[in-house]
Amino acid sequence: MPLEIKKVGVIGAGQMGNGIAHVCALAGYDVALNDIDPDRIRAGIATINGNMSRQVAKGLVTDEARQVAIDRIAPADTLEALESCDLVIESATEREELKRKIFTSLCPVLRPETLLASNTSSISITRLAAGTDRPERFIGVHFMNPVPIMELVELVRGIATDDDTFEAAKTFVSRLGKTYAVAEDFPAFIVNRILLPMVNEAIYTLYEGVGSVESIDKAMRLGANHPMGPLQLADFIGLDTCLAIMQVLHEGLADSKYRPCPLLVKYVEAGWLGRKTKRGFYDYRGEKPVPTR
Ligand code: NAD
Repeated sequence: MPLEIKKVGVIGAGQMGNGIAHVCALAGYDVALNDIDPDRIRAGIATINGNMSRQVAKGLVTDEARQVAIDRIAPADTLEALESCDLVIESATEREELKRKIFTSLCPVLRPETLLASNTSSISITRLAAGTDRPERFIGVHFMNPVPIMELVELVRGIATDDDTFEAAKTFVSRLGKTYAVAEDFPAFIVNRILLPMVNEAIYTLYEGVGSVESIDKAMRLGANHPMGPLQLADFIGLDTCLAIMQVLHEGLADSKYRPCPLLVKYVEAGWLGRKTKRGFYDYRGEKPVPTR
């Protein structure tokens, strides 16, 4: 019998973890939100409340539904607090070692039937699953940013993922009101395999002086009808995440066409990670974003 999911654990209360907790709570799941930094959990729940209030203002959600959903989200200061979850979605920083350590500490706490998922943008689901005690109950559930708005979730089966887990993941995604696309487990799956080389190329275009930040973004918004320019998008994703994905593509596919742009590396080294640190290809500290080059 496939497991019925009632309670979802989310590890990582960053921009994606918050979004995942948000949509799960609105869909009626109980949620336990964990982060290595307890302040991020509190800040995350406040952000979720603010984002839900915006949905109320737009008439998408009633204020009563917002309150019920917020009350469903419990802060989980330790991994032990995830013990009663039926599904745990890991959405911590995009670093394989860090994710592997989380799963090593998490597995002994969970019931054997609990499903595990990772929201990784690029890292091998098969490899992450192999480091756990339940590779057959492990699946990639890759949400898009911003989670409450974007319709797609990529579902990625590892080599060992069983049919019940795959079916449970499909049901879960549908209950969130989202649509899934199935991707094979190769570096960066479908969306980021295609999207991130484009973003990286935009950064090369800037690096080589072909265009300024403004002209590159304007060219792609108005010339290719993209809703956001590629440098704006990079800031939105987070430049550390962009670099991590390019490194996974470069190492995983061993092709020089995926070489991360040195300028991207420089921004990450500076700690200018985009919107989340208020500076990236744009400076967000003032009223309007100002290009930093
Ligand atoms: P983020 O930097 O906003 O948040 C990461 C969070 O993980 C931080 O709050 C950090 O404190 C926490 N964390 C770090 N180590 C931890 C640990 N050991 N235990 C618990 N929490 C820990 O990053 P994000 O953009 O939310 O990305 C999270 C994941 O989602 C990554 O795997 C990323 O690839 C993936 N993702 C990102 C996007 C995007 O557009 N940013 C889209 C889809 C998927």
